[in-house]
Amino acid sequence: MILAKNGAVEDLKNSINTSKEVFDFLASVSNKYGIGFWQPGAGIIHQVVLENYAFPGGMMIGTDSHTVNAGGLGMIAIGVGGADAVDVMAGMPWELKFPKLIGIKLTGRLSGWTSSKDVILKVAGILTVKGGTGAIVEYFGDGAQSLSATGKGTICNMGAEIGATTSTFGYDQKMEQYLRGTGRADIADLADNIKEHLTGDAEVYENPQDYFDQVIEINLSELEPHINGPFTPDLATPISQFAQAVKQNGWPDKLEVGLIGSCTNSSYEDITRAASIAEQAITKNLTAKSEFTITPGSEQVRFTVERDGYLRTFEKMGGVVLANACGPCIGQWARHTNDPTRKNSIITSFNRNFAKRNDGNPNTHSFVASPEIVTAMAIAGDLTFNPLKDTLINNQGQEVKLDEPQGIEHPIQGYAVKDNGYQAPAADGSSVEISIDPDSKRLQLLTPFAPWNGENISGMKLLIKAKGKCTTDHISMAGPWLRFRGHLDNISNNLLTGATNYFNEQTDSVKNQLTGEYGPVPDTARAYKAAGVPSIVVGDHNYGEGSSREHAAMEPRHLGVYAVLVKSFARIHETNLKKQGMLGLTFQNEEDYNKILEDDTFDLIDLQDFTPGRPIAIKLTHADGSVDTIQTNHSYNEGQIQWFREGSALNLIKKRNS
Ligand code: SF4
Repeated sequence: MILAKNGAVEDLKNSINTSKEVFDFLASVSNKYGIGFWQPGAGIIHQVVLENYAFPGGMMIGTDSHTVNAGGLGMIAIGVGGADAVDVMAGMPWELKFPKLIGIKLTGRLSGWTSSKDVILKVAGILTVKGGTGAIVEYFGDGAQSLSATGKGTICNMGAEIGATTSTFGYDQKMEQYLRGTGRADIADLADNIKEHLTGDAEVYENPQDYFDQVIEINLSELEPHINGPFTPDLATPISQFAQAVKQNGWPDKLEVGLIGSCTNSSYEDITRAASIAEQAITKNLTAKSEFTITPGSEQVRFTVERDGYLRTFEKMGGVVLANACGPCIGQWARHTNDPTRKNSIITSFNRNFAKRNDGNPNTHSFVASPEIVTAMAIAGDLTFNPLKDTLINNQGQEVKLDEPQGIEHPIQGYAVKDNGYQAPAADGSSVEISIDPDSKRLQLLTPFAPWNGENISGMKLLIKAKGKCTTDHISMAGPWLRFRGHLDNISNNLLTGATNYFNEQTDSVKNQLTGEYGPVPDTARAYKAAGVPSIVVGDHNYGEGSSREHAAMEPRHLGVYAVLVKSFARIHETNLKKQGMLGLTFQNEEDYNKILEDDTFDLIDLQDFTPGRPIAIKLTHADGSVDTIQTNHSYNEGQIQWFREGSALNLIKKRNS
């Protein structure tokens, strides 16, 4: 909820003013129910977790896909939807289809311009955005042990971009050093005492092919820096080939903005490596050609790097330090641009670069790289610049070259912070009042979804047949919409507005079968709902990849969508749909996607026999009266079918506890 615009101090103040109602609500709920609250400006939660909560051998679920960041400290940390977290907080077990194991053996040593970020950029190129689906990725080998704990965090963090359930490393000395450096010597001592149990067994790492479903080997000594994108994080290009790729693909070569930070890359080491490049801009008389922003990951990192002079270095280079928050990474960015219709390029050290993700502009080509590469590119202002070999002309007309980055893993004087932004819960919260204004535009109490009536669902109209990539960002956009996350009806006005309609190739324009007219997706869904007509969404592969955003499931449910039928789902989104009492179905025969026409009516003909493992048939009636019957699969187990029957998982919890 912190909009990046003019710089940390002003932006934070504005956000606290505009979102006071929501922050007050979160603070009071936390206080009442014994929950610690990290106040606005305290940092990005994954960096905060790594610094304060993560520990080797622990398991954690978190309601954000980048929860996996804590794998950097040897956790099994998994991103889930909010409803899953509710189950766990209510004392219920959390379940997951038993994952596969992908082993990634790292040999050699990083050097020069190559960093941990390049490991995961390379892995994303190998495995693609789907390759980690249903798998835990475990990194091991000498190379793995040589990476800093925060570097490991970077790698695990972006495991979300390959769809992995989680990524992790075995406990090692680097983790121990980080624990001690962040004031947790007691945990380091405990871990040291059982360290042989906090990593894989020797015979596993010696013969990984016998134990992992897939093994990949990467030699860090040979690894080049990579730049991934645009529009997808798995389009990986080594820097030596990047200039050529820019020209061949017609990507805009003028770089408009470089952004560093995010939960992926905002550690002390990241900042110092980037600052060592920024410092050279100053000493070598270079003026940064692109805008440049820095978002520290936590107040502890910000305070420490300010104390050590690095923020001043960035500012001298012309950089703007933003609040310790997600900011542009989640589209909370009031970007300064004179022409949003212009094709343009930006480069970030973030993790996601789907269309419109950072600034809501489909013309923005967003690339992902390490903070040091981003800094060098921002100085050059040119995407075809290769800092490893190219030179730049400075303000005095001299040809200069940037030296390799130098980083410091842990601050020499230790971490410091004055106020880390943490609010401990009240010892006795029973008297804490929580109030929600019924006229609020930001907060709305949830009304339980209706239980299933036990009948087949008939007469469903097609809301949209989404074409191609349809991430949770496309289903429920972030940016300015995030202010409505506490208000389901208001946020539902962004439902599927980013998805491309298969039939007209446009976004947010679908046919209302009741009127024959085209209109925005949310309005069309509301029209069906008002007329008592159920609707269905059809999608392509890996539907719902990206953020764990459960609004992407709650919104269609709220607007009368009963089923989502796709070629394949991303794990978290599929579960989110189930939890909200919806039907998440997959085509038994992918080719049947082509049978879905714009004016179709859908009848579920054997839903009354909904049982684990049994396909569900759908009768498609086309506008000309012809009929196709297709088979769909589902992955509901008995308990999950119960959620569907009750209307949602939350309804079931309520029933069991009443
Ligand atoms: S929005 Fe960006 S910085 Fe924030 S948690 Fe998500 S990936 Fe991390």
